[in-house]
Amino acid sequence: ATTIEVRDLTIEYQTGSGSVHALGPVDLDIAAGEFVSIVGPSGCGKSTLLKAAAGLISPTRGSVSIGGKPVQGPQSDLGIVFQNPLLMDWRSVMSNILLQAEMRRLPKAEAAEKARTLLAQVGLAGFEQHRPYELSGGMQQRVGICRALVHDPPLIMMDEPFGALDALTREQMCYDLQDLWMTRRPTVLFITHSISEAVLLSDRVIVMSARPGRILEEFRMERPRPRL
Ligand code: ADP
Ligand code: ADP
Repeated sequence: ATTIEVRDLTIEYQTGSGSVHALGPVDLDIAAGEFVSIVGPSGCGKSTLLKAAAGLISPTRGSVSIGGKPVQGPQSDLGIVFQNPLLMDWRSVMSNILLQAEMRRLPKAEAAEKARTLLAQVGLAGFEQHRPYELSGGMQQRVGICRALVHDPPLIMMDEPFGALDALTREQMCYDLQDLWMTRRPTVLFITHSISEAVLLSDRVIVMSARPGRILEEFRMERPRPRL
């Protein structure tokens, strides 16, 4: 079961001019299959919390565990999406996605099939052999989302994944994410600036406050959820 347990998590970044208190202490429990959104002003520590939960940065104090095991380094059962997908421009769209699948030891034929299905779902059928630099920012972002989902991860973390998309695509992606969550029930940690997106998609919305990087309040959503 892919639960996430955050205990007393504090992150301070070391910079040239001293240390920046970016987060915490924060305590947070996410149940297996739960969809949790995090909202809050810029700089309140949302990305820092997500990166620490993903094992990409280590806590100054406190701990994170996933499925009962302490998080140390990148997690193999995690699909992660950032604001900028950082695709490899010298590789095709398909190759960017398949590289991820290969690292997860997914059989190649199965991965290519899955990649094609995902690309079609996000409106990119026919772009398999294009290079990322031939695509718009929003299209690249959608490739990044396909790459994160190709191995059917039981745990998904997304940091403002739809920020670069036009309103219509954004709405469509929301519904796709909702469908995915309803059919496969991954555990999802989702950062967004859109309250309506958070309310539409989540079991729980967590509001963070700018100073000093703490959880201010959380709201549990009632079902059935409103459509956007
Ligand atoms: P949010 O995602 O809510 O915008 P972040 O987690 O990115 O917030 O940042 C939280 C705080 O930590 C901010 O004050 C930001 O300037 C600072 N910060 C983030 N990353 C670094 C870093 N690598 N080095 C120093 N300070 C950082
Ligand atoms: P590049 O984009 O750097 O030229 P390749 O096209 O050689 O990379 O693809 C990298 C890997 O992805 C190779 O192992 C290749 O077999 C595989 N691959 C690329 N496109 C497809 C595809 N459409 N279907 C299945 N596998 C593919």
